[in-house]
Amino acid sequence: MVDTSIFSSILEHYQGLLSVYTAVGIMAVVFIGKRLLLLIPAIRQTQALNKKACEERNTRSFYPRVQKRVRVWGLLTDVVIFALVLPFCLTLEAQPWWKMLLDIFAILMVYDFFYYLTHRFLFHDGPLGGPLIWVHAVHHQQRNPCRADSSYLHPLEPVLGLALYAATIAVLAALMGRFHVATIVITWVAFSEINLHNHDLMEEDRFPFKYLKYMSFMPK
Ligand SMILES: [Zn+2]
Repeated sequence: MVDTSIFSSILEHYQGLLSVYTAVGIMAVVFIGKRLLLLIPAIRQTQALNKKACEERNTRSFYPRVQKRVRVWGLLTDVVIFALVLPFCLTLEAQPWWKMLLDIFAILMVYDFFYYLTHRFLFHDGPLGGPLIWVHAVHHQQRNPCRADSSYLHPLEPVLGLALYAATIAVLAALMGRFHVATIVITWVAFSEINLHNHDLMEEDRFPFKYLKYMSFMPK
């Protein structure tokens, strides 16, 4: 007879519905947040600038093909993360606000530290670049990047980036306890928005947009 106790104990900890809530929460925050941000003229202008650059790039035959491939691989990785990783890391139990703030900070900082190491030692450093320079080289083909270029990638790159992000959440959840659904919604939106914004073309340089512009021009 097959011992089903391992499976039943895994199933006992599996919170699939919380993963669905998280996905819906992320989509709702992005949908509403985008509309609110576009009420600000400087953000509208930045969006128009990036849209124009993206339309121009889309006239090159290979550009939309590369983007489409990334969307497919990114989506498949997301499905795996939401189906197999997040259900073991989430809770809806009430938590104090400072614990949620601390969790958000920890997830983003730990991820960023490991992404820094990945970007530097797998993609860039070394006499011929890192061992995975051939993956990352696709991304650096774009000069003077615009927002759409954040997803101009070799298909392995979104898989690596998202897997690293999911691994950060899983390891930290094991160490710190399950994260609230709202914590993961906020960090997921922040993670993707930072990734998009650091490729933005941006002209607005006055307060309070100065740092946003600096972020978008920092070396990638
Ligand atoms: Zn790079």
